[in-house]
Amino acid sequence: MNNNKYKILLVEDESNIRNLISAMLEASQYHVITATTCGEAETMFSSYLPDLIILDLGLPDKNGMELLKLVRSGSLIPVIILSARADERDKVEALDMGANDYVTKPFGSAELLARVRSALRNNRHCSDEGKLPGGKFVLDDLVIDYDARQIFIAGKEIKLTQTEYNIVALLSEYSGKMMTYSAIIKAVWGYPDEGSIKKLQVNMANIRKKFGIKPGEKSYITNELGVGYRMCSDKN
Ligand code: CA
Repeated sequence: MNNNKYKILLVEDESNIRNLISAMLEASQYHVITATTCGEAETMFSSYLPDLIILDLGLPDKNGMELLKLVRSGSLIPVIILSARADERDKVEALDMGANDYVTKPFGSAELLARVRSALRNNRHCSDEGKLPGGKFVLDDLVIDYDARQIFIAGKEIKLTQTEYNIVALLSEYSGKMMTYSAIIKAVWGYPDEGSIKKLQVNMANIRKKFGIKPGEKSYITNELGVGYRMCSDKN
């Protein structure tokens, strides 16, 4: 085993999916260890100290959420959830419980590998990705000057309201991570109320318009309907 390789703990009970993901990760030079139950994964987690966990929620002994809870009680290791379900509540619950990201089955290898790279990168830099000395954040053509509270795209200043700026700055702080609606609302407005999601969506629509992003276009900020928003590079 090459000690420079990232160690990934893959927890999945379905053998065909497990083999497929293992092969995919090994082809990309990751070292993969696998577990088929929550119990086995707990042992693997404490004895192998992996760099990242890919976790299926539907496991034979317990719900994968139980493992996530256990891991998060003492570790910030990135966790990517594998979800077979279209159920958004599962994803939101897992993200709010500290998962870094999720991938819905079926998924393509490019998508999964991009999520793995992004989760490892963000963890290594402790969410400092894109942050430059002097309080600046850069993502492709987007530049945020945190001290001046100014945002530029391709050198042109984008005039945002205070709230709009706070939302963009927050997403940039967690660049690459899917932020749930409730996490954004809590950070920007404090306690949520009935109209919070609507308010967030209206602000986000204005931000996208000011950024010059056309409806449906994925640029700087992507929206997962019913779940939340993520700031990411187009090149990711
Ligand atoms: Ca399963």
